[in-house]
Amino acid sequence: MPPPEDQAAPPERLDRFMARAVAAYYATRPDPFGRAGDFTTAPEIAQAFGECLGLWAAVTWQAMGRPDPVLLVELGPGRGTLMADALRAIGQAMPGFRAALRLHLVEASPALRAAQARALPDAGATWHDDPAGVPPGPAILLGNEFLDALPIRQFVRRGNAWAERFVRDGGFLEAPAEAAPPLPAEAPEGAVQEVSEAARALAGALARRLAAQGGAALFLDYGAAEGGLGDTLQAMARHGPADPLASPGSVDLTAHVDFAAVAAAAREGGAAVHGPLPQGLFLQRLGLMSRAAILARSAALAGRRDQAGLILSGAERLVAAEGMGRLFKALCLCHPALPPPPGFEPP
Ligand code: SAH
Repeated sequence: MPPPEDQAAPPERLDRFMARAVAAYYATRPDPFGRAGDFTTAPEIAQAFGECLGLWAAVTWQAMGRPDPVLLVELGPGRGTLMADALRAIGQAMPGFRAALRLHLVEASPALRAAQARALPDAGATWHDDPAGVPPGPAILLGNEFLDALPIRQFVRRGNAWAERFVRDGGFLEAPAEAAPPLPAEAPEGAVQEVSEAARALAGALARRLAAQGGAALFLDYGAAEGGLGDTLQAMARHGPADPLASPGSVDLTAHVDFAAVAAAAREGGAAVHGPLPQGLFLQRLGLMSRAAILARSAALAGRRDQAGLILSGAERLVAAEGMGRLFKALCLCHPALPPPPGFEPP
């Protein structure tokens, strides 16, 4: 017999469920990345990825007029691999930037903070729970697969109104939308419109910060350049799709980033916006394939032919349209006086 209505768990708005599920997931998984985990990410696939982003930051620092000190901030650094590769490349190519930078990592999960400390032993990093905790000053920020973890709301077209999705007992239910943001006037029956208020608020706050204090923020993530309708909530476990409403924390929950909405919020906050560009084009412009070819050649010369093949196929996966080159995008928010940053120059 179903429990009486008043004993059932109250429905939870989807963004609140997602925030709780993402926090529980990262708090309880010592290592969700890589082959033995649930999913893999660009820095885990190719060392050249973090190296190229490190050089991107170095050239951006030059364009900012070489502020010293400058904050180098990573949002959601995962295992710390991207930053370890970036700092090595920066140290070799631009020691002045290496000496000027102060490293700040935004990471909510204690287990991942410990992994980051192991990967970055002498980097003098300071950790923060939230981007708002990063101290003021000129800053260069990097975020790979950070925005996709931010919670979304979902609205469903019913007749000539929008209902909102709530979660209860592992299933969705719809209820009249609570204080809904502006939604499209027209949509087919049953269409889903997603809104990430967290991503918009973050973009607005970063834009105000960059416009007032100088710097740039680079985001790489998956999603459409131009918003649109559709349900993109997805869950991954052991490298395959899983039930997104399963018990919170048991699977990795993400949604596609609405780059048009992030860009609009950043422009409103006073930043210049470059992109979104397909990740493949962006990384090729930064020289990812040439760097991978050099790494592969030194592996081959050292007799590690298998390793050389993996280096090339990994880099290829990041740029290929059928891999991560097209669905993933690069977006940059920066101080309006900065020239277009590397990779975003008009052709
Ligand atoms: N950038 C890494 C990891 C991506 S996974 C890589 O490319 O491999 C998402 C990362 O963001 C994790 O480190 C996770 O703990 C962190 N994260 C997710 N939501 C967060 C939030 N709201 N606040 C702070 N960190 C968050």
